[in-house]
Amino acid sequence: MSTPPAPPGAAGRISQTGATPSAGRSTPTAHTADDVSPAPPHPRRRTRNALVAAYLSLSVPAYIVGAFLLFFVSPILLLASNEASGSCGPGTPLTEVSGGGPDDATDLTTEQIAAKILAEGTALGVSERLILSAFSVAMVESGGGVEMRNLPAERSDNGANPNLPGRTATSVGVFQQQDLPEWTNGGINRMNVREAARSYFRTARRLESRFPDPGALAAAVQRPAAAYRGRYAAAMPRARLLLKATKRAARTDGTPAPTPQRPADTPADSSLPKPRIVRDFIPFDQARRNDMRAYANRHYGINSSRLDPKVIVAHYTAGGTYQSARDTFLPNRPDRELKEKPGVVAHFVIDRDGTIYQLIPLDLMGRHTVGLNHVSIGVEMVGRNTQEIIEREDQWEAVIELFAWLQGRFSISPENVIGHNQNTSSPLHKENNPRLATQTHSDWTAQEMRTLHRDLNRYIDEHGGLRLGDRPATSSDEPSGCGPEDDAPDDGADPGGPLQIVEGTRARILDNGDVAAPADAPDYVKAMIREGNRINRYRYCWGGGHGKAGVATNGISAGARPQSNCAAGIVQGPGFDCSGATGAVLAAAGLGGPAHSSAFGRAPYRPGQGKWVTLVSSPAHVYIIVAGVALNTGSSTGRAGKPGSGPRWGSNPSGGMNGMTITHPKAPGNEP
Ligand SMILES: [Zn+2]
Repeated sequence: MSTPPAPPGAAGRISQTGATPSAGRSTPTAHTADDVSPAPPHPRRRTRNALVAAYLSLSVPAYIVGAFLLFFVSPILLLASNEASGSCGPGTPLTEVSGGGPDDATDLTTEQIAAKILAEGTALGVSERLILSAFSVAMVESGGGVEMRNLPAERSDNGANPNLPGRTATSVGVFQQQDLPEWTNGGINRMNVREAARSYFRTARRLESRFPDPGALAAAVQRPAAAYRGRYAAAMPRARLLLKATKRAARTDGTPAPTPQRPADTPADSSLPKPRIVRDFIPFDQARRNDMRAYANRHYGINSSRLDPKVIVAHYTAGGTYQSARDTFLPNRPDRELKEKPGVVAHFVIDRDGTIYQLIPLDLMGRHTVGLNHVSIGVEMVGRNTQEIIEREDQWEAVIELFAWLQGRFSISPENVIGHNQNTSSPLHKENNPRLATQTHSDWTAQEMRTLHRDLNRYIDEHGGLRLGDRPATSSDEPSGCGPEDDAPDDGADPGGPLQIVEGTRARILDNGDVAAPADAPDYVKAMIREGNRINRYRYCWGGGHGKAGVATNGISAGARPQSNCAAGIVQGPGFDCSGATGAVLAAAGLGGPAHSSAFGRAPYRPGQGKWVTLVSSPAHVYIIVAGVALNTGSSTGRAGKPGSGPRWGSNPSGGMNGMTITHPKAPGNEP
């Protein structure tokens, strides 16, 4: 077995698929032979095993990692190919470049690779199911089930890898295809994403009719060891989100390549759909409410049990069932850990089958996260660990739908969507009991939350979020040196086009999302509007915009935000966060610059609204109102629009000022 052709099942397939795709002898009956293939995993598996192990080691108990490591270290029988003729030739030239970047670059982003696979599938006229299967395979094979990477030989499992001496497996690229005729015939270069996708589709097309389920189809094409066959199906929700996002990007641009462009037309208010929620309220009588109020008083100095949600906290139950979770939350008795009343409870529990149960009203504090119960909605997920939950298609979709809806419903900015394990680093964390100031739990670490944030972003995009940010950065993304000082006059040609003027004293939001400045406004107000029009093309990036005022960054230059969701790769490319965007607009008028959101609520800014310019801030969020329109990064009102969006103009959401600190910059004519 150590010499080719190795695993049973593969050999027959490969010789057949080596033929031209149009051959009538498609149906490889030997295909099910991999059902009985012995323990040695397909050599293709090794890179994935490493990725999966790395991924899991960050998020799940050691015994699960151990189970994977068993595969990793088990003797590997190589399916080395002697097909000398299969070495990469020049390949079929592809003139159409899609998704940005050369088709064989190794630093392509997930979005770029996805665009290329979609473009190839579209060009070949394959079904949506085939494209979906290709997406799941690419994610599982090259990106730990989450991302897509075009892995070169040295990062794949082949002989060039110094860490794998003597190994001669030859898997490379986004699908981790080996040097076999199945993948290389026709001069296909496996490191070329579009060509690799073409050979994937070639094989998948032949199997399509026999495997109606895209996950099963993916497994049929890839023929993994039995233990891995379910991986593709598990990645399907994520693949589906990515495919929709990729299609949207392609549609927006009119080409498969995501390039910077404003949305042609976006609904004025497209709030996210509310998922089906089953109300299964636990009794919360006056005694329990009083206990909750007393708790809030002790721990937060708030003599109320009323919740105004600003944070969503993710939890998992570490086992059990929905019923056992509910049973735990039901009685109003002191909890085991802190021995306090009221009884612990989260607002939601999402069951394994995706049913969302609501246990208490959303305007009532629950007890689920030390330090944050006064400001947060708690969401429990039934499951032993995050990996399990992420891979349960129905449950995970429910998680994403609920989080997205809550985010929009309460205008919660992305950095306030956190895991329980992140509670102490929240800017809204408050705990009067010093003993509990550092108390946390292990569920949903920052690392684990990355997958949730990524899928959430894609879902929000899919539902019309204005996050133009999900496109690769290009040179035109960077401000072209037109800072406030050297900016063109009002009718100058800056990236946002000439500044339009309307009569009167109030700005108006235009169909393209920009704002027309009121004729009566002072010049500095017009400069601020022009700056807002310029930066409203950017995505949201936590920590973004904190370098030089007005310059989008990926959060790294801010220094203060090493855990920036851009720097961490959750979103890619430069952007602005709320305080970076507000600072940019202020800087355009020489009235300040980027700072932590809480800094906008105190001197040198003055209390109360300004006549032209007003700042609305809290320790966790800030936005700016200029001539009656608001540039916001997290509102669900108007064009400022979508949770997760970058800076966007919207009609001033006065409701969003509740509980916020109102200030204004000192400027001519701005005193109320
Ligand atoms: Zn928890």
